[in-house]
Amino acid sequence: MSYDPSNIFAKILRGEIPCKKVYEDDFALAFNDIHPQAPTHILVIPKGPYTTYDDFIASADDAEIAGFQRALAKTINDANVVADGYRLISNNGVNAHQEVPHYHVHILAGRPLGVLVEKA
Ligand code: AMP
Repeated sequence: MSYDPSNIFAKILRGEIPCKKVYEDDFALAFNDIHPQAPTHILVIPKGPYTTYDDFIASADDAEIAGFQRALAKTINDANVVADGYRLISNNGVNAHQEVPHYHVHILAGRPLGVLVEKA
C-alpha cells in the first residue's frame, strides 16, 4: 500500500487537526485515542510517512527506528502502566482491521485486557 498523506494521523502530524498530545520528540508523536478502549489508550506514531510495521522497518533509517522505539518506551514509562501491565497492539493491513494507514502502536492499560484475539 502506498502512503496516503491525507490520512488522519498525517493531518495530526501537520497540525491540521488537534490531538491530546502525551509526548513528542523528533521521531514520534504520542496522543490519546479518540475512542479509548481502556482507561489508558495511547497511540504512538512515527513522524515519517510509513503505512505499516513492515513498511516502517523496510523504509525508515536506523535512527528513526531506534528513536521511535525509545519514544514508545518513554511513553509507556511516563503513563505509569508498567507495574500493573499493559498491552501493545499494532494493526497492519486488512485482516488486522487497520483503520488508519499510518503505522501506529496502541498502548492499552488500566484494566484486565482479556484474551489476545477473538476466536475465529
Ligand atoms: P487501527 O484500527 O489500529 O488503525 O486504529 C486506529 C485508531 O485511531 C482507532 O483506535 C481510533 O479510535 C483512533 N483514531 C481515529 N481518529 C483519531 C483522532 N482524530 N484522534 C485520536 N485517535 C483517533
